[in-house]
Amino acid sequence: MRAHNLKSLKMIKDNSVVTIHYELKNSEGEVLDSSKGQEPLVYLQGAGNIIVGLEEELTGKKVGDEINAVIPPEKGYGMPVDALIQTVPRTAFGEGIDQVTVGMRFQAETEQGPVPVVVTAMEDDTVTVDGNHPLSGQELHFKVSVSEVRDASAEEVEHGHVHGPGGHDH
Ligand code: ZN
Repeated sequence: MRAHNLKSLKMIKDNSVVTIHYELKNSEGEVLDSSKGQEPLVYLQGAGNIIVGLEEELTGKKVGDEINAVIPPEKGYGMPVDALIQTVPRTAFGEGIDQVTVGMRFQAETEQGPVPVVVTAMEDDTVTVDGNHPLSGQELHFKVSVSEVRDASAEEVEHGHVHGPGGHDH
């Protein structure tokens, strides 16, 4: 019988702190994001740190497991919403309008707090900004490998995020 490292048998469940390497492609096979050559992603399972579709796919997995998952927008970044696309007068940007270009990202101040938006069009008198997530409406093709699984501390569970390497340092 081969000796097993007990730690490697720990399965991912709610309140697991999970370390993963990942690659994200769209349905055309373009790489949109990857942890390759970077620090792995460390997240708290069940706390909404990552998209729900990926949490579901990772539930029950353990160190050394690799998964390929196709996640629909409903379990990813949602569908784009027209209400988040707004056309505002150029004057709303004040002096800053000189720096505004199509494709520029910034935080828009709204009644619900700051929302990240991208400038999608500029007309003579107006600027169109889109507050939808850049990956909304997209089918997400993930390749994920699990490199570490541990139980979260009570404090991490309470805060809803990971502390220490790869997490918050407060
Ligand atoms: Zn914290």
